[in-house]
Amino acid sequence: MTQYTRATFDQVLIQNYEPADFIPVRGKGSTVWDQTGKDYIDFTSGVAVNSLGHCPDDVVEVLKRQADILWHSSNWFTNEPVLELASKLVEKTFAERVMFANSGAEANEAALKLARRYAVDHFGYQKSKIISFKQSFHGRTLFTVSVGGQPKYSDGFGPKPADIVHVPFNDLAAVKAVIDDHTCAVIVEPIQGESGVLPATTEFLQGLRALCDQHQALLIFDEVQTGLGRSGEFFAYMHYGVIPDILTSAKALANGFPISAMLTTDKISKSFAPGVHGTTFGGNPLACAVAVKVVDIISEPHFLQQVRQRSQQLIEALEKINETAKLFTTVRGHGLLIGAELVEQYHGKAAELRKKAGEFGVMILVAGPDVLRFAPALNISDEEFALGMQRFAQMVASL
Ligand SMILES: *Cc1c(COP(=O)(O)O)cnc(C)c1O
Repeated sequence: MTQYTRATFDQVLIQNYEPADFIPVRGKGSTVWDQTGKDYIDFTSGVAVNSLGHCPDDVVEVLKRQADILWHSSNWFTNEPVLELASKLVEKTFAERVMFANSGAEANEAALKLARRYAVDHFGYQKSKIISFKQSFHGRTLFTVSVGGQPKYSDGFGPKPADIVHVPFNDLAAVKAVIDDHTCAVIVEPIQGESGVLPATTEFLQGLRALCDQHQALLIFDEVQTGLGRSGEFFAYMHYGVIPDILTSAKALANGFPISAMLTTDKISKSFAPGVHGTTFGGNPLACAVAVKVVDIISEPHFLQQVRQRSQQLIEALEKINETAKLFTTVRGHGLLIGAELVEQYHGKAAELRKKAGEFGVMILVAGPDVLRFAPALNISDEEFALGMQRFAQMVASL
């Protein structure tokens, strides 16, 4: 396989990504090895996806077992793993019904379509306004980039879906100014992940809940990134104590095996009658079997307690590094989704620091041009955590 190098990427892949110079070839726990055998401590979990680390034995076992049983049977038949997974999600959350898809964008696409259809069914076609937030990220389909609050992702693809309004995040007055009885949904990330790891305030989410109730609009929480223990609770809405009408989940749901879910109430779900929405791969037995195992592990109170402890350690370690380095203005986030905003001198240089971290043997993420993002596996070992922080500190000291 070694005839393939980073240069091959530039020859045969569509150049919509700019991957690192090194190529990971193997991972175990929170350690990754590249083609040369160099090791890295992974503080990214593949963008908050492999939350149980790379190739966790108990999850691999389930994947292998299901691979010998049944991979796919289409949605013209149901299957045991999808029934088990849906039952568990219903049992552990506000939701009464679940639909599965394959990516975060698809789950959000389903959520937005459901909100629009529910409004048509109960109020009429005039109730179509969707309120979203500046800098938000909801995926890359045309509907989800248009709902997302970053025009650089939605411009240049022709006409966009209509009746979508963007207002500043954490600004309840701005929502009040635009919400009305024609509003069908408000969609929000409890912690804006891609655009800087910005947590919503509790008052903001509570205020959205009240405004949505007042105007009979649905409140959608995009928990594609914050879900499955990432915030220190099973879902971030539990941290805030605010219950949405629709919730989407994806990234960590099967530890890297593609799957996403849309959770909602029985009443709202009725607007997706047979044939109204669907997907070929969504809810396949292989993905669902893996997700069942992941859900079992992450939803354990003791596991979540350890995530909150590790969160504290991560924040303290970054603040300690910052005492001498003076590299960050703030360290923020919940659980193991932590953003460190760079001081002005380093604005625009987050990607450069990520690259440098790789040279020192630690993988980190960015969230926009000015924020370093840390999203280690929720079960990262003490040794890997300490080694990764040590390498990160060395990178910072080298600046
Ligand atoms: C990653 C992400 C998405 C998109 O998920 P895909 O699987 O890439 O489609 C949507 N919303 C949020 C909050 C995300 O972090």
